[in-house]
Amino acid sequence: MSPQIPGIHHVTAIAGDPQQNLDFYTGLLGLRLVKRTVNFDDPYTYHLYYGDQLGRPGGILTFFPWPGAPRGRRGAGQLTATSFSVPAPALGYWMERLKSHGVAFEGPTRRFEEEVLTFGDRDGLQLELVAGSEADPRGPWKEGPVPADQAIRGFYGVTVSEEGYEQTAALLTATLGFRRAREAGNRFRYEAGSGGPGAVVDVLCLPAAPPGRVGVGTVHHVAWRASNDEEQKYWRGRIADLGFNVTPVLDRNYFRSIYFREPGGVLFEIATDPPGFTADEPPEQLGTRLKLPPWLEPHRAEIEQRLPPLHLPATGTH
Ligand code: ZN
Repeated sequence: MSPQIPGIHHVTAIAGDPQQNLDFYTGLLGLRLVKRTVNFDDPYTYHLYYGDQLGRPGGILTFFPWPGAPRGRRGAGQLTATSFSVPAPALGYWMERLKSHGVAFEGPTRRFEEEVLTFGDRDGLQLELVAGSEADPRGPWKEGPVPADQAIRGFYGVTVSEEGYEQTAALLTATLGFRRAREAGNRFRYEAGSGGPGAVVDVLCLPAAPPGRVGVGTVHHVAWRASNDEEQKYWRGRIADLGFNVTPVLDRNYFRSIYFREPGGVLFEIATDPPGFTADEPPEQLGTRLKLPPWLEPHRAEIEQRLPPLHLPATGTH
């Protein structure tokens, strides 16, 4: 049997100030900082990873903070909304929480069987809190500031905006094995693997939208899961056979990655589930120290000196 992509691995976006980013995702949204490292291709920039207790695939949102860089523009050829899954009874709690932190939101609005709250982070990155019709079985990070019964369970899905959707749809279904699940108006929903939260991608067809531009407050790429290296190799072969420019396998220390651009312009990655974030620090210490890959360790002193200071969140405070 050919491999199946189980769902989303991670989403990577561009932030402005790293401290503001850290405070928003850990202090307000209640995610765990699971890794504090640097951009391996640009080691004087942080790479911050947020997720659940272990940073499991399906709920990892990562940022490259570029302090002082210009804002990007949301548009076609981009991932334009990242959605987190929350329990349905928690929406009222979240509306109060966003309001008390001065975050404007829209909704709840109905989309298919879900209730959706839409808002932006401090850099204008578009986020959603989605309550699905069925309970999400995934466990939350319990030591953050949000009580466990209200807390984020991981991603619900992602929305990509496209000038035209057919070629993207064909790549998702015929090549990557997603199936078409729903549609309404210009929104076409696909699901990976067994579907449900963490495996949903909505393709929004926006023929008149200007192209997106990467910058602060926009998504850089989305990664889909490969269960192991073998499956990643299989996907690499398939994608290369179709004529896409796909990178060689790159070692990202916590997973291995290949990248290619889908026909509508969104940068796709396929990342392996192993080894995960406990590869270089124990579960209880995730995110507490600046971690560097072996080839950057010799430059630690200079890297630490050039990175802006970052104050880590206190845990266990409700
Ligand atoms: Zn990535």
